[in-house]
Amino acid sequence: MSDTLLRTLDLVEPGDLVLYHGSKRDYYGFYLANPCDCAYCARANYLGCADVRYRLTDPFGEDPEAPALICVRSQSITRSAANA
Ligand SMILES: [Zn+2]
Repeated sequence: MSDTLLRTLDLVEPGDLVLYHGSKRDYYGFYLANPCDCAYCARANYLGCADVRYRLTDPFGEDPEAPALICVRSQSITRSAANA
């Protein structure tokens, strides 16, 4: 994957539909991405850490509010073309 493509992945915005393709293959699929709000990420954001992480929820799951994955790096998700 090129640097240019990776840079476009940083454009994920809260509520975007994204495709997860990170290290957890069992979770490959589409999710809604929001900034991760766990204690670790909240602290990292407070300290000005540039590595923004995301909390992914499954819009088609039994509980759409329950996070399927947290602390997901932007490199692990791609904004869905459906948003374009
Ligand atoms: Zn987190």
